[in-house]
Amino acid sequence: MAVERTLSIIKPDATTRNLTGKINAKFEDAGLRIVAQKRIQLTKAQAGEFYAVHKERPFYDELCEFMASAPVVVQVLEGEGAIAKNRDVMGATNPADAAAGTIRAEFAESVGENSVHGSDAPETAAEEIAYFFSGLELVG
Ligand code: ADP
Ligand code: MG
Repeated sequence: MAVERTLSIIKPDATTRNLTGKINAKFEDAGLRIVAQKRIQLTKAQAGEFYAVHKERPFYDELCEFMASAPVVVQVLEGEGAIAKNRDVMGATNPADAAAGTIRAEFAESVGENSVHGSDAPETAAEEIAYFFSGLELVG
């Protein structure tokens, strides 16, 4: 399997509960390398642009409000099959369905406030990384 990069976001529910380090340990324990990382606070408009694919969904407004409600940590994870591996480490969107040991099973508060975002395919990973990071910030 090829070495890939994927975009991860540690969401406001997790940053406000001081879970950044515990979540990063999950990534590193799974063999994912954090090759770029920064803590930022999104505006609601920026969150809306990032999640534009969901704009027709009933939870879109709530999701954008939540993502702008406190700082997030945006990061690039690298490793063999990093996109699918990160989705495995994250667990299912709804923490009630997430497998034991996953980030969402251990830390998420609800289907909306679910601690992490992860890209779902190579094309979205490339777009999402470019939304937050310049090439100069990706040092491998
Ligand atoms: P994932 O983050 O697992 O890729 P989706 O892409 O389907 O999940 O949804 C994006 C985000 O929107 C979720 O992580 C979650 O924060 C929010 N969300 C998804 N479904 C719901 C829902 N039914 N109610 C509230 N928020 C939701
Ligand atoms: Mg998604």
